[in-house]
Amino acid sequence: MIKKDVIIVGGGAAGFFAAINIAEQNPKLSVAILERGKEGLGKVKVSGGGRCNVTHAEFMPQELVLNYPRGEKELLGPFHQFMTGDTIEWFEKRGIELKIEEDGRMFPVSNSSQTIINCFLQEAKKHKVDIYYNYSVISFKTDNEFWEIETSKENFITEKLVVATGSNTKIWKLLEHLGHSISPPVPSLFTFNIKDERIKDIPGVVASNVEIKVIDTDLYSEGPLLITHWGMSAPAILKLSAFGALELAKRNYKFQIEINFIRKSFGNCLDILKVLKQDLAKKTVYKSAQFEMPKRLWQQLILASHMDIETRWADMNKMQLEALANQLTKAIFYVDGKSTFKEEFVTAGGIDLKEVNFKTFESKLYKNLYFAGEVLNIDAVTGGFNFQNAWTSGFIVAKHISK
Ligand SMILES: Cc1cc2nc3c(=O)[nH]c(=O)nc-3n(C[C@H](O)[C@H](O)[C@H](O)COP(=O)(O)OP(=O)(O)OC[C@H]3O[C@@H](n4cnc5c(N)ncnc54)[C@H](O)[C@@H]3O)c2cc1C
Repeated sequence: MIKKDVIIVGGGAAGFFAAINIAEQNPKLSVAILERGKEGLGKVKVSGGGRCNVTHAEFMPQELVLNYPRGEKELLGPFHQFMTGDTIEWFEKRGIELKIEEDGRMFPVSNSSQTIINCFLQEAKKHKVDIYYNYSVISFKTDNEFWEIETSKENFITEKLVVATGSNTKIWKLLEHLGHSISPPVPSLFTFNIKDERIKDIPGVVASNVEIKVIDTDLYSEGPLLITHWGMSAPAILKLSAFGALELAKRNYKFQIEINFIRKSFGNCLDILKVLKQDLAKKTVYKSAQFEMPKRLWQQLILASHMDIETRWADMNKMQLEALANQLTKAIFYVDGKSTFKEEFVTAGGIDLKEVNFKTFESKLYKNLYFAGEVLNIDAVTGGFNFQNAWTSGFIVAKHISK
């Protein structure tokens, strides 16, 4: 039996961040990570297309929390303790500069996730964190004083146990067995499969700012929309997939969406089209895209509005004008399934947040049992927010344990 002061199960983003900060803040504590893989930080490696979207340039806690469909309320307090700005400073102090991209996502200047991995490995070594690779945790139990941990190799004993196993089902089952409630895992962050004549031939087209509603629900989003070979993607869709993760799973990913491509009301759009009918009378509708719409998308919507490529503005009848206004402001599409977004997937579900003390990330059911990262029922939209949850929870666990 190997004895440590602190054991962290899971050598991912949250586990490493917790371990390093504990060991740095209290060098007297012996700290170990038990990682089932032959290497840790696997998701960090592939994250952000190999660039690692470390965090997001959003510096107001009350704004930042809005990106978490699950965890919004609970993370407000923790973000007042450790926020995006603290993440930037943490890496800066260790020689890693982060840069902000136009959409607010933040990456290491090197554009390589290996920079983050190297930093974590160096810091872990510097602060004498023991990392046990190929140690898969099978079970843990407590006698109210110590935690005994069974692994695929030796067993361990510790006073403080941090569970940072991401979305590992076996560990969730184990925690359930100990009395914790687990919200059932469902996928979040996915793109929509749509087979539709209007978008079939135009993959790659981007509508820069649309509004989307999921019919018969309260789900709504806005932002850029990308037409793909399979359907639709980009932030407007990904936000819906995250905020609607449970609802859309219930519907088995078959539902209808209504898109407003130009963010104007039907009536307002119709009025504008009537003016255009006068002003552009001799031009063909097909060739004169309006509302700053991508030309190829505009053309598909014209064909869907009972017109052909020769129809002139002057010749448009009432039915065609209304059909076009309809396509522009409330186009209905049938979604039939989902696809993975750039291999980036996140799981909604995990430890019920009511059973966690968010001042410390300690279990309310067991003393000296802590959680960090995606093992909790917390997840975010794409943009660096999921890692921020790992850093914040890891840091707060560390602050509390190292006291
Ligand atoms: C392809 C991809 C790209 C992504 N890109 C981004 C991005 O750019 N920005 C962002 O914010 N988020 C991104 N995410 C989400 C982000 O990676 C996760 O939210 C984050 O990794 C969660 O960290 P974690 O430490 O909680 O879990 P994980 O990173 O999943 O780590 C859990 C660790 O625990 C280990 N483990 C599990 N079970 C056991 C066991 N029984 N015994 C021992 N060890 C165990 C696992 O092997 C793993 O190493 C991406 C996700 C994917 C899949």
